[in-house]
Order: sequence, then structure tokens, then C-alpha cells
Amino acid sequence: MSAVSIWTPGDGEVQIGAAQIQTRILELGAQITKDYAGKNPHLICVLNGAYHFMSDLTRAIELPLTIDFLAVSSYGTQTKTSGEVKLIKDLSLPLHDMDVILVEDIVDTGLTMNYLLGYLGGRGPASLKVAALLSKPARRKVEVPVDYLGFTIPDAYVYGYGLDRAHLDRNIPFISSIKAG
Ligand code: IMP
Repeated sequence: MSAVSIWTPGDGEVQIGAAQIQTRILELGAQITKDYAGKNPHLICVLNGAYHFMSDLTRAIELPLTIDFLAVSSYGTQTKTSGEVKLIKDLSLPLHDMDVILVEDIVDTGLTMNYLLGYLGGRGPASLKVAALLSKPARRKVEVPVDYLGFTIPDAYVYGYGLDRAHLDRNIPFISSIKAG
């Protein structure tokens, strides 16, 4: 058996521990609870990468809320973005008059978020905000608003806590990176 298990963090500069992630999500949940007092926010998870974040964030919001899921494809197994965004799973519920919070794992170039904001905005929500666990501002090609942000990180490819490396490692409970070779 290999001496290095998937639970061993990589040697890159971005390392965010499981407890640190949970602490930050509790803060974001408290902020959303305050901002949406008296409302029922509708959280839309962008699959696959945001599935852990969505699960923990919804449990950190002390309000009655509804959820939905959509999936987009922009990466394949490559670590470079193609710039092309394809909707591969659409929403189940209408957005008319809903207070929508789009829940994303990471904003990198911003192309996916930009596409989704246009797409969801056209469906008549009462309001539309963005929660993203991570942001890499150095990689931005298009400016997008992030209303609830977990962590700002440098330009490194990260994995774990829902984020994949060639479809693997989404189940690692922390976020890690490997030094660029
Ligand atoms: P964007 O359209 O370039 O902003 O990329 C958004 C999507 O690319 C994210 O939702 C992720 O699925 C994926 N992505 C971007 N950077 C990373 C990374 O460092 N690790 C894993 N996935 C990433």
C-alpha cells in the first residue's frame, strides 16, 4: 500500500483545513440568516463541485429555505478552462419571485458564473446573489459579483471538499493544492 494516502495534504501553498472551512461556513450562514430575515431564500447548487458547500451552508442558515440543483460543464478532466460553458442539468423549480442564492465551489475565470447569472437572471427571480466558497481573482477574465465569499486564494489548482482532480478527490474533507511543477 502507498505510504501517501489521499488524506495527506499536498505540498502547494493553498491548504484550508476541515475545521477552518466549517468555521467560515458558519459565519457565512449567520450573515445570510441576518440578510434574509423574514424571507425564504432559494439556494441553487452548481454541481458537482459545490455539493459539500451546499450541504454545510444550508445547515448553517437558520431560516426556512428551498433548494435546487443545476450542473454545468466547463472543465472536463483538464486543469485549464476551455471558456465554454454548457448546461448539462437544468433546474427543477421555477425562479419567479424567488430570492435566489447561487452556490458555487470556486470562481476562477468567472466565465461560468457570468453565464449562470445571465441565465438565472432571465428567469425572473425577486433577487439573485452569489455564494462562493473560493475565489481566484488573479485568474479573472470577466468580473462577477460574489456576495458571500469563503476564501480568496492565489492562482493554484485546488482539490478536495467537493473540488476534483481529474474527477477524483472530491471526498477529501479539506482543501489542498500541489506545487506547480
Ligand atoms: P470558471 O468558469 O473559470 O470561473 O471556472 C469555474 C469552474 O471551474 C468551477 O466551478 C470548478 O468546477 C472549476 N475549477 C476552477 N478552478 C478549479 C480548481 O482550482 N480546482 C478544481 N476545479 C476548479
